Amino acid sequence: MFFSVAVSSLAGQKVKNIIFMIGDGMGANQVYAGMTANGNKLNLEQCTYTGFHKTYSASDYITDSAAGGTALACGQKTKNGMIGMSPDSVPIYSSMYAAQQNGLATGFVVTCVVAHATPAAFYAHQPSRKMYEEIILDLIHNTPDIFIGGGRKHLENRSDSINLTDSLRKTGYQVAYNLEELQSMKGSKIAGLLANGDMPDFSIRKDMLPVSVEKAIEVLSDTKKGFFLMVEGSQIDYKGHDNDAEGVVGEMIDFDKAIGKALEFAKKDKHTLVVITADHETGSMTLKSGDFQTGKVTAQFNTKGHSGVLVPIFAYGPGSENFTGIMENTALKAKCLQLLGINEK
Ligand code: MG
Ligand code: ZN
Repeated sequence: MFFSVAVSSLAGQKVKNIIFMIGDGMGANQVYAGMTANGNKLNLEQCTYTGFHKTYSASDYITDSAAGGTALACGQKTKNGMIGMSPDSVPIYSSMYAAQQNGLATGFVVTCVVAHATPAAFYAHQPSRKMYEEIILDLIHNTPDIFIGGGRKHLENRSDSINLTDSLRKTGYQVAYNLEELQSMKGSKIAGLLANGDMPDFSIRKDMLPVSVEKAIEVLSDTKKGFFLMVEGSQIDYKGHDNDAEGVVGEMIDFDKAIGKALEFAKKDKHTLVVITADHETGSMTLKSGDFQTGKVTAQFNTKGHSGVLVPIFAYGPGSENFTGIMENTALKAKCLQLLGINEK
């Protein structure tokens, strides 16, 4: 029933690859703050279609990243805190999983721990986002071709004493512990665990996110059948929780650099759809003043938590016209799969 919606591709171009990008906590004001600080320009402005989605969860008007991520990934609203499960705890499956089942290459790149709620929604099925050790077991049981982020401790320092990076190596994965190792790796099975916990913030981790996205695209595009790559600008949300406007701007511009890498590939490839959205807004951030010349933005935050506002969707490439208008957060998965020509069993 997901597939009753009419979806067409731009100019007959087939969608072979999807790069699905989530700015955690990225509302329209976070985008505009980044744009202002970056001299009235962001890469995401190259997107040709824009829309909005409604972020509320099955349990709350204001979603958390677990329910928000699950809705975007699996196409179903669930209770706050739950990962890849319906409200009654039945596992539900993501666009990334469906792509993998259909022979596409898959991967994700994040700046949080790889077991964090947003990436977990694409591969795990657990009643609580806090169950990091169980979430990582789900990742090991069904590993994408490449994944990059922080969170080495969740694999190597566990209460069950199992070293899961060893398990990954046994199944043919190369494990990178820093960006240089990652960049030098050849082959398609790569685990990048670039920090013990979350990656440090943008000012310290430098271009880890855009460089990792470039690497993931290089690895995944080396496949005939196409790929599904999820990318998260994880820490826009953290800076929103801190009510740190400068931090929001820094994380936003960093995420936009990663968007630039995705769009650069999509422009050359012509069969790649790039979808950029958020799971929710964080901080109820409003802009009080800004200056395109100096890049200075003054903001006011109205909460330390999330807000309930509509969040933007930006799309580029074949099929991008399907991401305009106002939709539920659960609508994006079916659109992605239909454009890839994937029918779920
Ligand atoms: Mg997140
Ligand atoms: Zn948050």
